Amino acid sequence: MNTTDYLQESLEKFIKKYCWSEVIELSNAYPERRSLFVKFCDIDNYNPKLAGMLLEDPDVILPVVTMNLREMDIPTGVTLDNAYVRILKLPTQVRIRDIRSEDIGKLISIEGLVLKATEVRPRIVEAAFECPFCRHIFSVEQTERNFLEPSECPGEDGGCGRKVQKFILLQDKSKFVNAQMIRLQDSPEDLRGGELPQTIDANLENDLSGIVSPGDRINVVGVLRSYQQITKFARTCFFVVYLDGNSIEKRKEEFEEIRITEEDERRIAELKNQPGVYEKLISSIAPSIYGYAEIKEAILLQLFGGVSNMLPDGTKLRGNIHILLVGDPGIAKSNLLSHISKLAPRGLYAVGSSSSGVGLTAAAVRDPTDFGGGRWTLEAGALVLADKGIAAVDEFEKLRKGDKEKLHEALEQQSVTVSKAGINAKLNSRCALLAAANPKYGRFDLYQPLSKQIDMPPVLLSRFDLIFTMIDKPDKESDRNLAKHIISAHALGELTKNGESDETEDFEDFKAPIEPNLLRKYIAMGKRLNPKLTRAARKRFEEFYVGLRSLYDADNVVPVTARQLEALIRLGEARARTRLSPKVMIDDAERVIDLVNYCLKTVYVDPETGKLDVDWVTVGTTKTQRDRSRTIVEIVQELEKEYGNEVPVKEILDLAEEEGIEREKAEKAIDELKRDGICFSSSHNVVGFVR
Ligand code: ADP
Ligand code: MG
Repeated sequence: MNTTDYLQESLEKFIKKYCWSEVIELSNAYPERRSLFVKFCDIDNYNPKLAGMLLEDPDVILPVVTMNLREMDIPTGVTLDNAYVRILKLPTQVRIRDIRSEDIGKLISIEGLVLKATEVRPRIVEAAFECPFCRHIFSVEQTERNFLEPSECPGEDGGCGRKVQKFILLQDKSKFVNAQMIRLQDSPEDLRGGELPQTIDANLENDLSGIVSPGDRINVVGVLRSYQQITKFARTCFFVVYLDGNSIEKRKEEFEEIRITEEDERRIAELKNQPGVYEKLISSIAPSIYGYAEIKEAILLQLFGGVSNMLPDGTKLRGNIHILLVGDPGIAKSNLLSHISKLAPRGLYAVGSSSSGVGLTAAAVRDPTDFGGGRWTLEAGALVLADKGIAAVDEFEKLRKGDKEKLHEALEQQSVTVSKAGINAKLNSRCALLAAANPKYGRFDLYQPLSKQIDMPPVLLSRFDLIFTMIDKPDKESDRNLAKHIISAHALGELTKNGESDETEDFEDFKAPIEPNLLRKYIAMGKRLNPKLTRAARKRFEEFYVGLRSLYDADNVVPVTARQLEALIRLGEARARTRLSPKVMIDDAERVIDLVNYCLKTVYVDPETGKLDVDWVTVGTTKTQRDRSRTIVEIVQELEKEYGNEVPVKEILDLAEEEGIEREKAEKAIDELKRDGICFSSSHNVVGFVR
């Protein structure tokens, strides 16, 4: 018996023995479903030699087994003439960075994050040509990336054998398949120690196309192929590899990725019952960074997250907690962010201004390169790639314009919708955002609203559950402590570099009380719980919220909006998770309220009156300011009757002073009216309304 016959017989037996019921099932659903899924381990059990050949020579085995399936006599009477055999669960995964030339032509399995995907378009696989002279019709299989056109009419079976410039392509007699290209990247969580992620493209055809979106984490089995790289001038000696997809599986939930052994559970249970575990958790966040206890606490809560809920009417409530840090340069914001992106299981570090072209959300562009071949391509940005994780975004103030608009949806609905040309997609962005921004003018200015300082629409700021301002104020004692801290951090770095890492007491500060691996597992355990508010906690939140709302009712200032109430609940749930408890207790509520109060004091207080006013952040002006500009407008209106469109500034200031507005503040208010396009100055010292 020759090899092909042997293979054919052997594979047919395999299908009948291992997959017969699946074949019957498929024949019932055919042609809507067209794939027969075969587990690699079944082939291995049946015949290890055959399994080995499948990995080594997929281009020999796969066509034979597919042919077998297509020609099979099935009791249901259906012929599966266009079905595919798809292999699942290969024994080993190749990391994208480890793909080498030896893998070309082999069947391999790759795990990765989908960065971008083209739209699904028909690809011609068998082109039917007609000879313009003798009208002979023949077909040419299209196996290459470039379109293969014949140069002469075939001499045998009825053709004339002439050389022909251009044959006529008969579309209705040609065969097409649906095809899509995707680009995969090593998942960030699989990269440790500063490795840069690498990418590979995969070609998906037929029923594999159109089922993955950017941001998905998938496992692709396929044959590694290559094509020659061509520059503008010549063919090069270098080849580009890509994966010809055979099967796709989407990856499981995020925290199941973290394996927790019984031993781990024992350690976690022990830890949980220690006194002061909450403080230990907090000081395990970025121990090399000095101070910032409140910020670290907030970040800890962010790592645990609240519970995301679906209301009976279908509205989704996010559980993710978003945090914004705004502050002076050089106070370890970037350091903190990069720490967290490494600590969080699905952490991703990105820069707001990144030049990669996609930004933070997603973008659809026409891609003329080899990858897209002119198709529209959907590319995911940081918030989509960090789905179910934490996105640490530095230089948040440098966001591009398109992103600012899409961020509302990404942060609140936790999805990104793109509809443009051939692409209509809704991508998930179920991540928590930890953003850091530097004020536009370098240093933080207490007397400017936040939204102006970081050039961010106030509504966008209201999406953050907690906003912290970090101000670099000289203070002898804390400066000394910080200096000590940084110096010993460097000293410790020197020691470990020289291999003398016996830590003396001086370095206790830098050791996380709970090491990162255990902390990650602890967090994963916490995330499995869905804590509920106890009656006491609910009452406490209610009181606090109503208290805040009523504080300045008399002055008609609305200090706090419902968003802050949702933030409280999320934070409370996260705090219960830190105790691995299914209940949000009054203690949790108190602690969270302390944290919120801390933020309110530093961010939401109108610096002129000392009163709490969320509009300071969310609308960009306070009530005092709004009242002031209204008064100024009235004064200008009054004076216009006398002076026309050229009201002297001095007159305005005089009248304002009578109304109790200091000259300096009135001047500032006039400047603001000019900036907002309400007033203008035709010359120095005069103002008028813009008409
Ligand atoms: P930013 O992003 O806020 O401008 P960086 O993260 O780049 O600042 O930090 C600047 C440097 O200052 C870093 O080397 C950092 O280690 C140091 N530094 C500043 N404040 C602290 C602190 N509180 N603890 C430890 N290091 C600090
Ligand atoms: Mg920075």
